[in-house]
Amino acid sequence: MAKLHFYYSAMNAGKTTVLLQSNYNYRERGMNTLLLTPLIDNRYGQGKIASRIGLEANAVTFDSKADLLAITQGHRANAEIHCVLVDEAQFLTREQAYQLTEIVDQLDIPVLAYGLRTDFKAEPFEGSKYLLAWSESLSEIKTICHCGRKATHVLRLDEQGNPIDEGAQIAIGGNDQYVSVCRKHYKLKQVA
Ligand SMILES: [Zn+2]
Repeated sequence: MAKLHFYYSAMNAGKTTVLLQSNYNYRERGMNTLLLTPLIDNRYGQGKIASRIGLEANAVTFDSKADLLAITQGHRANAEIHCVLVDEAQFLTREQAYQLTEIVDQLDIPVLAYGLRTDFKAEPFEGSKYLLAWSESLSEIKTICHCGRKATHVLRLDEQGNPIDEGAQIAIGGNDQYVSVCRKHYKLKQVA
């Protein structure tokens, strides 16, 4: 039986590296995968998922209006799909998170979604909120705060490296704009 798996973490924990490794494992066994990534993240060019350590793979991009079940059905018409992998899944709408459950329940294809749990204001992302609620399998990809505790929160930094708590939820940028910290150091706004 296929399952919906959600891998969540703070920033810079290596989510995309884990995604690309899982994709590689499927491919190595001769299985077909479908990689999906939101159009909002164009850091590495459209249609590509790239990790900070240099791995990359081609992906299908989608916007907030896209039907992920329909996209998967379209690709499945050409070739069998053994797994759907979704990067930056925090950016999914509630409807798109539901569509992932339909890929599992209607098409019987396992879905592996990877995303940030909370934004820099410590609010849950829309996509992550519903994936945490609806997935059969939840796994945390862990990373640590400068103090050695588990990092659960994300601080956004301005150009001078000072933590900020104003601004839009979605501001795609380089890794230097965000730092993952424990809850205590999030409250204290201590980056190091
Ligand atoms: Zn800490």
